[in-house]
Amino acid sequence: MTLKTEKLFSDAYGIDRAIALLKSGQLVAIPTETVYGLAALALDANAAAEIFAAKERPAFDPLIVHVPRAWHSCAELIEADIFSPNKIGPHQQLVIDSLIRAFWPGPLTIVAPKSDKIPDIVTSGLGTVGVRMPDHPVAQVVLQRLGQPLAAPSANRFGRISPTTADHVIAELDGRIPAVLDGGRCDVGVESTIVAVESNGSLTVLRPGGVSVEALRAALAYELKSNADAIQIQTIAAGHVNSIQAPGMLENHYAPRKPMLLIAAGTSARLSKMDAANIEGIKNALRRFCPDALKVGYLVTSGSPAVHKRGLESALGLPVHVESLSPKGDMIEAARNLFAAMRKLDDEETLSCIIAEPCPNETGLAFAINDRLKRAATPSS
Ligand code: AMP
Ligand code: MG
Repeated sequence: MTLKTEKLFSDAYGIDRAIALLKSGQLVAIPTETVYGLAALALDANAAAEIFAAKERPAFDPLIVHVPRAWHSCAELIEADIFSPNKIGPHQQLVIDSLIRAFWPGPLTIVAPKSDKIPDIVTSGLGTVGVRMPDHPVAQVVLQRLGQPLAAPSANRFGRISPTTADHVIAELDGRIPAVLDGGRCDVGVESTIVAVESNGSLTVLRPGGVSVEALRAALAYELKSNADAIQIQTIAAGHVNSIQAPGMLENHYAPRKPMLLIAAGTSARLSKMDAANIEGIKNALRRFCPDALKVGYLVTSGSPAVHKRGLESALGLPVHVESLSPKGDMIEAARNLFAAMRKLDDEETLSCIIAEPCPNETGLAFAINDRLKRAATPSS
């Protein structure tokens, strides 16, 4: 394996080098608008196998296939040997085309029957493949110049926090991959929403992500000229994983090394109104979870870090480092900052553990943020 991972700028040299490495079957981490992806040629089973080795990813967790801008319809994806030429019915095709028109390029992965050309290792032996067209200029230049699809899961060690900068990729995979192409900070910050399009055209959200369920419903209603309430969307959120449908959606994922406790939404804001018994209850829970804590990390999705810090320190009687994902409460900004904030709390040596408050409601991107927080939290066992 490589000794040191090369950090390439997204200039002419860097992009040429990345393409040359990929063409020779090697791995390159590339920027996308969701998180950094660890890319390899999707039609090359040996190259795809390298991804599993570098990430220490179990073989049952399928990879998402990324495609160039030109493949902007179900017919083109069939033509390009991504989707099956004979296992996709007309209604399924109509829905796939609607989703492509509404959300590609962008953070939506579409799962449908695969072509025989996609190696089994990429889909973990499933008959379906997850496909996405990333909306990042660097990812698109690489894909267009290659003219072939790239398999690219998040560029982190399996189960760990996803990377949203090239430095995060280095922190996760230095020496395990030849290169990372630096394209700056990821704009969306959480992974794509994954939807399976069933043969009757109904949708199952296998993973919440950068496209909200509300946006899916509204766009499909518009495209199919239907009433929004008539659009069937089933969701599988954290805690309700169907192991057959979504083999890779493990309950414990995106995890910091430090123990992370998920606490009720709005706890910090309510402290000043709580009576002594309630506050004692929270302190006891913290002592049980993190017995010798001298200082704790506290992640909130909104509000001023200074105000949270003051209230928490006086209630808990302990120094607290607060990370607020969006002081003004914008969930798009919160999603963008989520993984970097988790990583910062994890890397801060003085903190013994992390306490995290989810978003109080689960509309829009808050659904994806809460999904990640639930999976990142230490299981209560
Ligand atoms: P990531 O590491 O963020 O790229 O995760 C990829 C995830 O996509 C996997 O963990 C699966 O949950 C999901 N996925 C990919 N392909 C399929 C598929 N064919 N069927 C169901 N889920 C899939
Ligand atoms: Mg991942």
